[in-house]
Amino acid sequence: MAIFRLKSGDIFAFKLLFVLAIMYGLMSVLVYSVLHMKFITPLGIDAPLNQFSEGRAIQHLRVLSEEIDGRQEGRPGLKQAADYIKEQLELLKIRANSNFRIEVEETLVNGSFSMMFLGHSLSLAYRAHTNILMRISSVNSTETDASVLVNGHYDSALNSPGAADCGSCVASMLELARLIVDSNWISPRPVIFLFNGAEELFMLGSHGFITTHKWRDTIGAFINMEASGSGGPDVVCQSGPGSWASRVYAQSAVYPMAQSSAQDLFGVIPGDTDYRIFAQDYGKIPGLDVIFLLGGYFYHTSSDTLERLLPGSIQARGDNLFSLVRAFASSSMLRNASERQYFESADQGTDSERAIFFDYMTWFMVYYPKSVAAVLHILPVVIFLVAPIILCQANFGLCSCCKTYFDFLKGMFQHFIAIIMAIIVPVVLAVCRLFFSNHAMNWFANPYLAFMMFVPCSVVGLLIPRYMWRHFHDYQDMSVQIMSREARIYESNFYGAFGFYALLTMVFSLAGLGGGSLTFFTSVSMLLAWIFTQLLSYPEHSLRSVVVYLFPLLPCLTYSVHYGGFITQFLIEKMGMMGSVPPPYGYYVQDIAVAAMVGIVTGWCVGPLLPVIGDWLARSSILQTLLQLSVLALALSSGFFPYSAEAPKRVVMQHAILTADSTQILDSSYEFGVLDSNSLSFLFKYAQEASEHPQIGSGYSFQNTRDRWLAIFPVSNLISRSFKFPVGHEEILKQYNSFPHLSTIEREVFSDAGIRKVHLELNLGSLKEVSVTVLNVTGPLSGWSFADKTLPAPETIDGGPPSYICRLSGASYEKWAFWLEANSSEPLRVEVVALDQHLTDSAKELKHRFPEWADIVAYTSFMSSYTF
Ligand SMILES: [Zn+2]
Repeated sequence: MAIFRLKSGDIFAFKLLFVLAIMYGLMSVLVYSVLHMKFITPLGIDAPLNQFSEGRAIQHLRVLSEEIDGRQEGRPGLKQAADYIKEQLELLKIRANSNFRIEVEETLVNGSFSMMFLGHSLSLAYRAHTNILMRISSVNSTETDASVLVNGHYDSALNSPGAADCGSCVASMLELARLIVDSNWISPRPVIFLFNGAEELFMLGSHGFITTHKWRDTIGAFINMEASGSGGPDVVCQSGPGSWASRVYAQSAVYPMAQSSAQDLFGVIPGDTDYRIFAQDYGKIPGLDVIFLLGGYFYHTSSDTLERLLPGSIQARGDNLFSLVRAFASSSMLRNASERQYFESADQGTDSERAIFFDYMTWFMVYYPKSVAAVLHILPVVIFLVAPIILCQANFGLCSCCKTYFDFLKGMFQHFIAIIMAIIVPVVLAVCRLFFSNHAMNWFANPYLAFMMFVPCSVVGLLIPRYMWRHFHDYQDMSVQIMSREARIYESNFYGAFGFYALLTMVFSLAGLGGGSLTFFTSVSMLLAWIFTQLLSYPEHSLRSVVVYLFPLLPCLTYSVHYGGFITQFLIEKMGMMGSVPPPYGYYVQDIAVAAMVGIVTGWCVGPLLPVIGDWLARSSILQTLLQLSVLALALSSGFFPYSAEAPKRVVMQHAILTADSTQILDSSYEFGVLDSNSLSFLFKYAQEASEHPQIGSGYSFQNTRDRWLAIFPVSNLISRSFKFPVGHEEILKQYNSFPHLSTIEREVFSDAGIRKVHLELNLGSLKEVSVTVLNVTGPLSGWSFADKTLPAPETIDGGPPSYICRLSGASYEKWAFWLEANSSEPLRVEVVALDQHLTDSAKELKHRFPEWADIVAYTSFMSSYTF
């Protein structure tokens, strides 16, 4: 530890640093409580019947996620869940008084379409997926009345009990339906509940409903519920088309949780919801996408259980839902499809642009239309441009004014460099740490480590330009100055920083992004703080002026800590499933991303204070102390294991069986893939018991090919390498009589143009719990019977030839019949991969040998290939 001689200013600087640390610490405690729903009291099962009760919703959830085993396509639990939901709805129907008209329906949906998912193109064909529907209306309602749709899916991802995703949605919907009946609220317009049975297979249930159901054209607004984690804020992540849906939310949400800028991020973060089916791909219905975002560790894992749900989350969701449904149902803007079309063609009352909105600590909403934003978000830049002219009034002259502009631009540049350094310094330190550490992502299970490691050094980054330039900065010629040199620097530092946020606000606004509201809030608060200090006219360089400046900024800083902390936590949790990139760079990706995010957030939270605290803190004693703190945290963090049962490492394990005709096995192996930067070698090094398994110990091979993971396409693109261990065939031969088999049912017909059509039949043999079968066709394919007889865009897998991919699901005991069309006599090659959730006893035993900190998604995949 270095010993430095403290100068007079140092002691004061340390005091200031300490005060700031306490202030941000208190803000963090407040933010933590808000994010973890500490201010919301969940109601128990005995709560009054005219209120939404989390306790009652949990009772449904217990049945769905604990008593029923596995709500995945192909497993018996899915049917049991559908039966349970239907039974509950029928009971409500019996109980409801005669003023209600209640219809309960079970529908089977079939269809085929193409889509882009995770940047990859594919087609989907599905049959016999079950949707359960309930329509509640008044006895006087008509069939065509505009209605409100509430959607949630009851199926769940492979291997997951799906308590939050999306048992929590279904449970909330059941409790909401009960509340409507028991509170005797007769909705002026029908409310439709869609319990959809196939979302995890790429939004098939909602597609089936919106393309085929008789009520589809009545939907005037929808609320889609989802879970990308185990609770916490239930955030409106997407809304539209237009601003009406978000306006209704802003006016009626009991606990507003929304962020319009989240929609900008949606294309970046892997994932999609039913929202796109209703609001974008089919229907253009105005609606909201409301998602549980915290606890992303458990999303799609075996740990998505009832115990992990954050208490209060379902209560807040339910209270919001009831209020929202009432608001939508009573709104004069609720229109069915033909009314919408009429208003659009008449160009009346249509709103095409999304609004700007965000919640403040779930206490209230800030909401304004884009047209207002277009003016509002330019204002700070105008102020920045006008300020030098006003400030030069005292000794007005072109020269002085230009110099002031020049100073401000220098200040702005300095602030920009500070923000960049706030990102670069933690990134450099993160990379350095990895050179000395044998594993990445130490912060994963203990996110506070990321803050401890990267916040102090990010503050160092913020202070570096100030430190460097303090000594060399020579502003204007002092002899002509009326203001003191210090006041001058102070002023240009402030306006420089202010100008930075003002410019950013304008850029966001011109780019059509919602993020401008955040920097707008910052720049306006800064201006307020500046005016405050000027009015109270304290000496520029005193502690009082710091306090006076700080005071008006507190609401804005608290918001920055809230939103910034939330985003960082969200990102850290999602790093477990962002995919692995091949070495050597893959090892660094996740750490760099988190270090950069902490840097951005620190810059955002501390940056506005920089003009007043920069000069105090930009001292070598402070910089050294902060750096030492970071290095200490970095060293300390290496003692932490990245994963725990609360933050598991995601591992995919497939028992891959390569078959020829319907009875012959060519090859059989266990294959493993991971979804983050700690490689398979890491996994087997620390998963002792698994690596000692007799079938694992000998003769593994390493493969780089993604085509082995076709069963989970396009998620397969997140796996960059895999381990393959050969296993015997005996167990499989004992358990299965026949394997998937593709055969020709009709002779090829050549047309004059040389086009031939092959009619095929796929039999899935004696497979047990098939969730999906993937077809991968390469060769001169020019058409097929799927997705309205049109091909999706071609994909290339591992640099191979262009291929076309179709995922088939539903009723796997029946044969699939389809045709392929080729435009030349070159062979068509078809690979068939069927995903069976059933595991052999040995595979199960191997899976259970892995420690608690590893979440294994295991399945058996049957692969075969054919040429026609
Ligand atoms: Zn989901």
